Amino acid sequence: MTLAELEAEAKRCIRCKLASTRTQVVFGEGNPKARLMFIGEGPGKEEDLSGRPFVGRAGQLLTRIIEQGMKLRREDVYIANVVKCRPTVDGLGVRDRPPEPDEVAACSFYLKKQIELIAPEVIVTLGNPATRFLLNTNEGIMKLRGKWHSYNGIPVMPTYHPSFLLRHGGETGNTPHKREVWNDIKLVMQKLGLPV
Ligand code: SF4
Repeated sequence: MTLAELEAEAKRCIRCKLASTRTQVVFGEGNPKARLMFIGEGPGKEEDLSGRPFVGRAGQLLTRIIEQGMKLRREDVYIANVVKCRPTVDGLGVRDRPPEPDEVAACSFYLKKQIELIAPEVIVTLGNPATRFLLNTNEGIMKLRGKWHSYNGIPVMPTYHPSFLLRHGGETGNTPHKREVWNDIKLVMQKLGLPV
């Protein structure tokens, strides 16, 4: 199976209840042979409307981390989420919520296959749902971030989700959590042999 075939299958997916409330499936995007893969939680409003991952405010912050911080192009990496359809409170499409365990379980087929097909050298998990799923743990991101872990032999660096950074200090300012993310990203750059 190719990544394009997997995407076509995901776009028809009705494996969980999020299928009934989504506008579009947000499969993921980027270089299908990326050395680095970012994995977030799930699509938000802008992503659901556009069909693209990380395009809202949090996505713009992630893009700045990639382009201004790491000096990579966004299209050089691959960006995906644990669930491919937007989870909202009561399915009303108003307030986002974290994906529920049954939704993560139903959607895990796609993420696992994406990782297998892309075969990145390094994975960065953004926030608790992605980190807990990939590392098969109930530990929180505060304890797990900043240290190397492993998923099927691929080094995994957990760090805070950009939306967490926006909630704790906004888009500007050198907050402690932003410094922690930058330290995590520098470890990733070192692992990939990128100039820090
Ligand atoms: S969230 Fe995943 S499993 Fe659920 S309908 Fe969307 S693509 Fe299918």
